[in-house]
Amino acid sequence: MFNKRIKIKELLNTAPQEQQVTVMGWVRTFRNNQFVALNDGSTNNNLQIVLELGKHDEELLKRITTSASLKVTGTLIESLGKGQKVEVKAEAVEILGDSDAEKYPLQPKKHSLEFLREKAHLRFRTNTFSSVFRVRHSLAFATHKFFNDKGFFYLHTPIITASDAEGAGETFRVSTLPFDNPPRAEDGSINYSEDFFGRATNLTVSGQLEGELGATALGEVYTFGPTFRAENSNTARHLAEFWMIEPEMAFCDLEDNANLAEEFIQYIIRYAMEHNADDLEFLRQRLLEEEKSKPQTERNELDLLQKLQLVVDNKFERITYTEAIDILLQSNHYKKKKFQYDVSWGIDMQSEHERYLVEKHFKKPVIVTGYPKEIKAFYMRQNEDGKTVAAMDILAPGIGEIVGGSQREERYDKLVERMKEMHVPVDELWWYLDTRRFGTVPHAGFGLGFERMVQFVTGMGNIRDVIPFPRTPKNAEF
Ligand code: ATP
Ligand code: MN
Repeated sequence: MFNKRIKIKELLNTAPQEQQVTVMGWVRTFRNNQFVALNDGSTNNNLQIVLELGKHDEELLKRITTSASLKVTGTLIESLGKGQKVEVKAEAVEILGDSDAEKYPLQPKKHSLEFLREKAHLRFRTNTFSSVFRVRHSLAFATHKFFNDKGFFYLHTPIITASDAEGAGETFRVSTLPFDNPPRAEDGSINYSEDFFGRATNLTVSGQLEGELGATALGEVYTFGPTFRAENSNTARHLAEFWMIEPEMAFCDLEDNANLAEEFIQYIIRYAMEHNADDLEFLRQRLLEEEKSKPQTERNELDLLQKLQLVVDNKFERITYTEAIDILLQSNHYKKKKFQYDVSWGIDMQSEHERYLVEKHFKKPVIVTGYPKEIKAFYMRQNEDGKTVAAMDILAPGIGEIVGGSQREERYDKLVERMKEMHVPVDELWWYLDTRRFGTVPHAGFGLGFERMVQFVTGMGNIRDVIPFPRTPKNAEF
């Protein structure tokens, strides 16, 4: 029976009383024909297995190679070696799967993250990636816990939709029509009425519009699912497939919304700090190591754990868009013409601007509210000034935008007027407008890019390294 095994995480916290235990895992290293460092993924700490000299078959010892999988039965004893409290004195060793040391693509040494991206199917077996994915799990679990404890309902919004919530047009088409010879209308355009759904459909870019339908009946809901954007931006912060957390709350204004986002972010970081201390300590060291190769000026003043502590202990800064622009205009950085893109009221801030605000000026997360309506989506509530909307973005050090949200326009006439101005198809969104026709209420919500959050907590610089199987332009190998 396989399930008799004890996970290494548990064993490392067990008092050794010479009890018989069975462990299974993959070999990380094998030293002196005697010491196996075994890892089973439950923790980044390895279990030391001691093979008594002369006790085990020579042929078997040869097969204990990097990444071979083993079943070991033995006694749990106090370890005399450094770095561990317990170890297992092996009585029986069984090779579950051999691993040809000549052919195994990962060496027991440091590999670059770029190299490991090419070996994404095996990178889970490294300390860095196993830590990242355990932290990712904790953040996801904490997300559900946070919202559940607050009485939110997890709403599954559709993956295939006919709407483009952002109106940005960066969608992946979903179709079963033949590529080479699609049915065409008389004017030559593709006739989607013959397509699977009888209309043009795409992968969702956001669950928000459907989330609003849920919130205006269930009160408070959240979605947590994959979203897809065919944006051809090859940056360290954009994926074509990413996961988004989108709470939506009835009876809620922009300030309530900002409060919730702040509480949520602090909660899930705290959760990871409590439950993934070993992983985060490993990632802290990794980052310090990585930063050694950078010039002093580009290194972070705080290490990973200090940064996270600062975020959970302090209120986020709150400023308006207008104040943000003023800060940028007053900065020496601007005066010395160090920004690549110009600054003036009305611009959609570039990431260099956002990063200046959080990294150089405030040195902590910043909630920016009241953006010009021209650069924001049609559904955001218009402010009295006629120029701005009740939008909020949360900017984080090292990441830039991590949250985008708003109070929604609940006034039917104002919403329809704005949709027309922005050429959003009013007829197609009849179901969305019904929420404003029948018992409309003030409501608000936000979208948090889950991978950007994982980046923030793990300190990983590239978004491709915090999702198991990254989808980016020209890349869908694994
Ligand atoms: P950005 O300006 O960084 O492209 P956005 O304004 O397009 O972001 P929203 O449409 O507001 O972002 O989406 C909500 C959140 O989803 C963002 O705050 C961000 O955290 C995340 N996000 C957006 N696009 C991507 C992407 N391509 N890959 C990963 N996360 C993303
Ligand atoms: Mn974008």
